[in-house]
Amino acid sequence: MDFKQVVSHAKEYGFIFQSSEIYDTLAAVYDYGPNGVELKNNIKEYWWKSMVQRHENIVGIDAAIFMHPKTWKASGHVDAFNDPLIDNKDSKKRYRADVLVEEYADKLEAKAEKEIAKAAKRFGDSFDRDQYVTTNDRVKRYLGERDTILKRLADDMKKGDLEDMKALIEELNIACPESGSRNWTDVRQFNLMFSTQLGNIAGEEGKLYLRPETAQGIFVNFLNVQKTSRQKIPFGIAQIGKAFRNEIVARQFIFRMREFEQMEMQYFVRPGEEMEWYEYWKDMRLKWHKALGTPAEKLRFHDHDNLAHYANAAVDIQFDFPFGFRELEGIHSRTDFDLSSHQELSGRKIQYYDPALEKNYVPFVVETSIGCDRMFLAIISNSLMEETVPDASGKDSTRTVMKINPAIAPIKCAILPLVKNKPELTEKATKIFDDLKFEIQCQYDEKDAIGRRYRRQDAIGTPFCVTVDFDTLTDDSVTIRDRDTLEQERIPINGLKSILQEKTSMSALLQSIG
Ligand code: ATP
Repeated sequence: MDFKQVVSHAKEYGFIFQSSEIYDTLAAVYDYGPNGVELKNNIKEYWWKSMVQRHENIVGIDAAIFMHPKTWKASGHVDAFNDPLIDNKDSKKRYRADVLVEEYADKLEAKAEKEIAKAAKRFGDSFDRDQYVTTNDRVKRYLGERDTILKRLADDMKKGDLEDMKALIEELNIACPESGSRNWTDVRQFNLMFSTQLGNIAGEEGKLYLRPETAQGIFVNFLNVQKTSRQKIPFGIAQIGKAFRNEIVARQFIFRMREFEQMEMQYFVRPGEEMEWYEYWKDMRLKWHKALGTPAEKLRFHDHDNLAHYANAAVDIQFDFPFGFRELEGIHSRTDFDLSSHQELSGRKIQYYDPALEKNYVPFVVETSIGCDRMFLAIISNSLMEETVPDASGKDSTRTVMKINPAIAPIKCAILPLVKNKPELTEKATKIFDDLKFEIQCQYDEKDAIGRRYRRQDAIGTPFCVTVDFDTLTDDSVTIRDRDTLEQERIPINGLKSILQEKTSMSALLQSIG
């Protein structure tokens, strides 16, 4: 499905609404509806359990959004958490200069891909992609140009060379996507942190920030957590929480929001052992994604061209969103940058005594950081599809279905009396629902013909529908329909709970990570 269809489906079926819609919305801020919040909670549960429950040496915290303002001085965010900003003088639209250049580079890649696809069709089975990419002049030119541009951009970003970034935009003749105008301002730095004011202190002194990442809440609590949980290095601290960034580019739905949720885990290791753990967490995190059923070809690693000030290695797990491969999760080797900076600015010793080495040191950190909302978008865009299936009379019909992994589906099972105006059926169905609802997220639905109710459940990803029919009244059995195979099986009511629990089990999903 294309991106527009994903966005409208998310709204129509109660997954995601734009914030403050009755006031014409607030850009890049979104609310989760009844199905959305269930799916989001399940994603968080899957992540949390895979970190905290599955690893004896990972513990959780829930730090406050507000932190002492010195935190952001030490972390580098006050001075360096900037994006290069450019305004179009005619349209008055504001852009990230690096994103304009990246989009230009994406177009070159798309052109190359188009040539490759054409050739693949022409040559059929004998097509050798690698050979074609390295020998075809046109493809070589497109990809070469793309690489040169991205290299220059990476250098500019590293050096903070805003003038060259502007020159690059002009040389590439990039126009404002809204108006087509090439009348640009200079590029300047824009700090992404939202600030607010403490009630009892006036002026700069009382300036507070909404945290732009959850990680710092973990760093400043390092000793509190280590001492109270008696963890020994290597160990991790996990957290799920809101983060806020005053993003310039407010497009692409929940991919880039101004208020979003992060799921982060900081893993504290001995200095010198960080690369081993970096590889370990790269592997683990990819397995976590694949266990959900995300196809391997939709996930890839992308090394950072441009390392952040705190990192000695960094990679993104990119997902093939409907608008192309983009960052879904970051895995960063953050060295001892954060703990050392906090140690220096606070004047408090933040060190760990390693009994095996018989010495104190500031631990190194490997972090995994994933946006819950981006994960949500990856899941819905990967699972939403249109299919041709036989309807009740055996004729072909189209259905919209979300093939979400059953363990994280918003609703696990719908209980459906075959018809609504037969009290003996609705009473029986209600009784089944009441019996299941304490353990399984179920929905009772009696409105409309059974075929329409199936379609409604398909559209929100409900893996199982249980139908209560007239035979149920005599044989105490129900029909259970599988969302993906459409197979219907007759099973006794007393076996229903255990079958549903087994088929929608979060623990089985966790075990499958390997
Ligand atoms: P990008 O380059 O896309 O701005 P980033 O490299 O700044 O992302 P990180 O600081 O590494 O992102 O944040 C970790 C994760 O948080 C990202 O992988 C992403 O999933 C999520 N994230 C970051 N910014 C946003 C945002 N504005 N909206 C939604 N999720 C976000």
